[in-house]
Amino acid sequence: MIEAATDVLSASIRGAGLKVTEPRLAVMKTLDAAPHSGADTIFQSVRRELPGTSLQAVYGVLAALTAAQLLRKIEPAGSSALYERRTGDNHHHIVCSSCNAVQDVDCVVGEAPCLTPSSGAGFAVHAAEVTFWGFCAQCQQST
Ligand SMILES: [Zn+2]
Ligand SMILES: [Zn+2]
Repeated sequence: MIEAATDVLSASIRGAGLKVTEPRLAVMKTLDAAPHSGADTIFQSVRRELPGTSLQAVYGVLAALTAAQLLRKIEPAGSSALYERRTGDNHHHIVCSSCNAVQDVDCVVGEAPCLTPSSGAGFAVHAAEVTFWGFCAQCQQST
């Protein structure tokens, strides 16, 4: 994956109506290089670049960027919240039951929402969130 340039990331932060700050940029950069990272992982990486940053500050940045829809938060069962920059496309995730590796999966069939409930109870459905579970290629080999 090619890392997005800092000015591209700055522009997207500004485009969402947020002020561009060093911690926000560092979080975006981290998730650009390693999507589906949890707050702890992001914190470790941000601290390497900005040693004074607290975990609390990273949580604050994640909340602000998620609220601005610059980040998507996913919460597979049994895992802590993970964040990614790929938003708004209704993509799904496949999670390894053994090592918790996470991969993106495009819409199941066709366009978002790719699944339509048999009874929508009057809702206009715009997204379907699906988590597939299985064993990743590496874990299949080691069993
Ligand atoms: Zn695995
Ligand atoms: Zn994803």
